Parts: sequence; structure tokens; C-alpha cells
Amino acid sequence: MLIILKKEAGLQELASITKYLDSLDIDFSVWHDKNCFFLGLRKIPEPTIKENLRSLPYVADIIEEYPSESKTETSSPIKIKNFTVNSDTFLVIAGPCTIDDKEELRQTARLLKQIGINFLRGGAFKLRSSPYSYQGLGKDALTAMKEVCDELNMISVSELTSTEDLALMEEYIDIIIIGTRNMQNFRLLSALGKTSKPVILKRGMASSIKEWILAAEYIKKEGNGNIMLCERGIRTFENYTRNTLDISAVPAAKSLAGYPVLVDPSHSSGKKEFIKPLSWAAAASGADGLIIECHAEPHKAKCDARQTIDIHQLEEILKNLPQITGIWNKSII
Ligand code: PEP
Ligand code: MN
Repeated sequence: MLIILKKEAGLQELASITKYLDSLDIDFSVWHDKNCFFLGLRKIPEPTIKENLRSLPYVADIIEEYPSESKTETSSPIKIKNFTVNSDTFLVIAGPCTIDDKEELRQTARLLKQIGINFLRGGAFKLRSSPYSYQGLGKDALTAMKEVCDELNMISVSELTSTEDLALMEEYIDIIIIGTRNMQNFRLLSALGKTSKPVILKRGMASSIKEWILAAEYIKKEGNGNIMLCERGIRTFENYTRNTLDISAVPAAKSLAGYPVLVDPSHSSGKKEFIKPLSWAAAASGADGLIIECHAEPHKAKCDARQTIDIHQLEEILKNLPQITGIWNKSII
């Protein structure tokens, strides 16, 4: 965070503010140009302190930079069972939008495993725009997921929608997704921060990159640094696609914070025929992985069938993916 003092503020004011920061044990550095003094703080202070600083009569402006410690602290590898996510890896997560039936999930998972997929996605608790839409099978879906993943030695990935289900998810699921609708559910994020579960934080459909990274801070602040971000498309004036894939968010988020950044081409476009080019574009942009909706028989999917690809289509994507991830020296896991 940057504090800019007013032009007229002199050494006396500087001494006063540095004394205040020292009394709070806040690290800072001071410099000046020919106009004024600047104070750079490594961490953003508590809101009340920030407000106190803002109200000082000789403070001209406070620029709340992105938390500067994110980049260094969170670039440490994320361990998920026998896998490690780091800057050399490209994660491919695939599976149905929702788990509708155990045997159907097993069939899809087996085919995915055969083409080299190790991370299986599937929703149990769905947040649908309409309360009358199918809401997922809840706990039954989680038990199905665990059984299938144990059997096939796969990593399970599913969305948490409420703190009520956190214990259940911790027991059954290896990687927890926070979906777009909950990106700013700060109490949910803080609760996840108290666990050590790897988390995929999807970008809010109307959230800025800064808000997204600050939301991740809610998880990290409580002690859980096992965070991956996921760009899943944002709302724009364009309605030919379901959302607009903000591809520049990938390098932007990666440069502002140290978290791996995944891309979900399925919810970004809403159309199965766009999944291949968007997946390749994501890999070319330097993303650290993909989350793709895929089903053995997409027409049977109870949710998001229009954007769900089949195994053959996923295989087509995977065939050329190493060429693209190779540009970034990344290997697919
Ligand atoms: C999903 O993954 O099925 C989903 C609902 O994603 P999002 O939260 O990005 O809409
Ligand atoms: Mn979906």
C-alpha cells in the first residue's frame, strides 16, 4: 500500500506518521521526489488503521496496491495426494457438471482415466439461477464421487456452496471449488482458510481482477495458501456466448499474485464447439490448467449439456495441448 503525503507536509508530519506506524509494528519504507514524501507499506493494515491514516490532514492519497506478499508466499507448490501443482505443471480437470447417477459417473470417469485424466470434476450441490432447476444430489453425489475416485485412483474436485457442508466436503473431496456466485462470500472463504484443502476460487462473473485476488486473500489470511484461481468468463454486452472469456485475466492475475490460474472454457463460452479453441488459447496465454465439462454421453447430462463435450472431443483437445503447454515448459498432469 502506498501513502502519499501532501506537498506541504514536511519532516514534522513525516516523523509523526512514521512514529504511528512504528507503534503499530508496521513495516514501511520512505522516499520522496521533489514534491512530496511517499511511504510504502508491505501489508495492507487493518481497515480501522487504514481509515485513521486516510483521515490524517497531511495525507494526500492512499493507493491500496494488491497485497504485495501474495506473489512470494503462494507460489509454493500445492500438494494433492500424489500430485504436485507448481509452475511446471498444467492441470486438466474434467467431468460432468453435476453427478446425476453413480454408474454414469463411473462410466465417464473410466473413459477419462483411459485418456490420461487424473482429476475428476462433478457437482453435488448446485447453485442454479432458478430455484426450480435441478439442484444436484447432495451427499449421495459426494459418496459416489469418493467411491469412483478411490476405485480409479483419481483426484476429486467439487463445489462447496455453504459452510454447512464444509465438513462433508473435507471428508469426501480432494479439491474444493468456490463457484462464481460465491466468490465474495467472505465467511465461506474464511472458513475454507481454516482448512488445508486445496481450493479453486472461480472469478465472480462481474468481479474485477483486483476483487478476485482480494477474495483469495480471505482464504490465505486464515492460513490456507493452497489456492488456485479460475477464470470462467465474465458478463459483458456480448450474449452470443454464455460469458466472455477474459483471456488477459490469466497473465494479469499471474503477475499480480502467485497463485496458479486455471481456465474454464465451458462456462466461459457455453458452447461445446468452442471448448477446443478456448482451451488452446488458455494454454497459450500461460494458464496453469483447465476445468472442462465432459461426459460419456453429454445428451444425458442433467445440467449444462449444451457446453459439455464427449470423451472423443476431449481427446482431440489433449492431442495438441502438449505442443502449446510446452511453450511455457509445462507438463500436463
Ligand atoms: C460449474 O462448475 O458447474 C459452475 C456452476 O461453475 P461457475 O461457478 O463458474 O458458474
Ligand atoms: Mn456447469
